[in-house]
Amino acid sequence: MNHTTPLAGAVRDAFSALLDLVLPQLCAGCAGPSGPLCTGCLTLLQRRPHRCAPRPGCPPVWATGPYAGHHRRVLLAYKEGRADSLAPVLGGRLASAYEASGLAGPDTLLVPVPGRGPPRDPHAPVTRLALACLARAGGPAAGTVLPLLRHRGRPRRQAGLGRAERLANREGTLVAVPPSRDRAGGAAVVVDDVLTTGATAAEATRALRAAGIRVAGAVVLAERLAAHGEGIRAEGARRFYEPS
Ligand SMILES: [Zn+2]
Repeated sequence: MNHTTPLAGAVRDAFSALLDLVLPQLCAGCAGPSGPLCTGCLTLLQRRPHRCAPRPGCPPVWATGPYAGHHRRVLLAYKEGRADSLAPVLGGRLASAYEASGLAGPDTLLVPVPGRGPPRDPHAPVTRLALACLARAGGPAAGTVLPLLRHRGRPRRQAGLGRAERLANREGTLVAVPPSRDRAGGAAVVVDDVLTTGATAAEATRALRAAGIRVAGAVVLAERLAAHGEGIRAEGARRFYEPS
């Protein structure tokens, strides 16, 4: 699923859209009959966005909820083939975090963390979220989605690593392409699905700054919270583009 060609991805998306037409959609939150998300589950998602706990190397980050329970279930459903039906809902939630950040504006560059597919793939899960977020936040008046980040070499696995290992493992893995001259003055807001140790957001920030781009903040759907004061546990908090 992760190393699909654009054609295979398009076929999969078309097949998934076809299934959505012929099968009744279950709710991604509770598996009830009123999909893609029933009213009760949608209400559960609509928490007030929060500012995440600081992570080393990260700009201020806003999240729409915790990476746990209901939020996590819906995110995993998005990842596991329900992007078409859930992107508008999750994009709307991300827009609430973006608006809470106070960073939305016509010059702001929303920069998605890249997936494992080809650069600038508009179907990459995080790019889709960023596009849906911007549409809900007001379109061009609220910013521009610019996939400026690329993997340098093959992405490395992060799953199962601790915080220090993740930071070291990530460093130098992303590179940013400077935006065109007419966009060069805008500040960047990094977009990702989940914030765990912050290693990915920190690396995205480092790469953007290295390319001369100011990074004002980041928005994510879910923050993995520290458990019992032990620091942030990495296991089980995979990103969309990591091999499972
Ligand atoms: Zn439900």
